[in-house]
Amino acid sequence: MHGKDICDGAAVLIAHAINAAITSGALLDPGTRELVLYLADLLRAPATPKELKDGWEAPTKYFFGFMDTAKFTKSRVPTAEARGWDCNKKHFYVGRCADAQRATEVGPLETASMFCACDACLLFDFGNCEMKAHRGQMVSVRVPLKKGEVARTNQIDDLNEWSKMLKPGMVVAVRAAAHELEIEGPYWLLLVDSEAFELPEDMVHTTDEFEAGWLVVRGRWYSLVQKSPRGYKLKEVNKLVLVNAMIRLPNVIFSGGSVGKAPRASRSGLNVLEDDMHNLLMSSVGGEV
Ligand SMILES: [Zn+2]
Repeated sequence: MHGKDICDGAAVLIAHAINAAITSGALLDPGTRELVLYLADLLRAPATPKELKDGWEAPTKYFFGFMDTAKFTKSRVPTAEARGWDCNKKHFYVGRCADAQRATEVGPLETASMFCACDACLLFDFGNCEMKAHRGQMVSVRVPLKKGEVARTNQIDDLNEWSKMLKPGMVVAVRAAAHELEIEGPYWLLLVDSEAFELPEDMVHTTDEFEAGWLVVRGRWYSLVQKSPRGYKLKEVNKLVLVNAMIRLPNVIFSGGSVGKAPRASRSGLNVLEDDMHNLLMSSVGGEV
């Protein structure tokens, strides 16, 4: 519980309950869900009933909710910036943008200085708020992506559309074959060296066999030389790689890199893939993060 609001006082209850639980050894597994269930059982109602208190804000009951923290990773909730307005003075936020791409890149929100749960506000009818004098005016603001932050686009469905996006200098992830999973995991990283093209005839290229008409690029593989964080070195050998085997995510970048720029190795000579990008690729191949 948090916020400059009527909840402030109640937040102390939670802090005390957690401290007491740690001291008594009650919390063996302090994961979010276990913690919430524990608190819900311990703190069912205020110790002092509402009738004995002054003030409309005195609680009658406590409700506990659980939010899956996997929903709040950086790949799902990228870093955004409040530009030109003071987010510290706002405590009521409503996002109603239904276009996922626009919501991520532009971040349109309605905001006010205080939370309100009157009948009108619960129906998003903010103009008829019963507590307007307390809540303050709703204002439209934007929280666009932080500069340099990459918008997380979905995979490109259409193979031809994807193949046209492939340009030299781009890093792409390629699905590993079933018998290769033990080596680096379910994907390989490739530095693309050519645009995509159809093979004019059957060919054997460094032991791999390709058939005429297959869509391929030339590129160089990265090899994983450090596990955490994942650090890669570029191999020298130029290979033909099937476009069809690629994970169709256009914004794969290494740490410190940016979309549209060829990657550069860090001082250590490694290209580092941040965990967040790794998680995104893992979820794209259906793997466990
Ligand atoms: Zn209201």
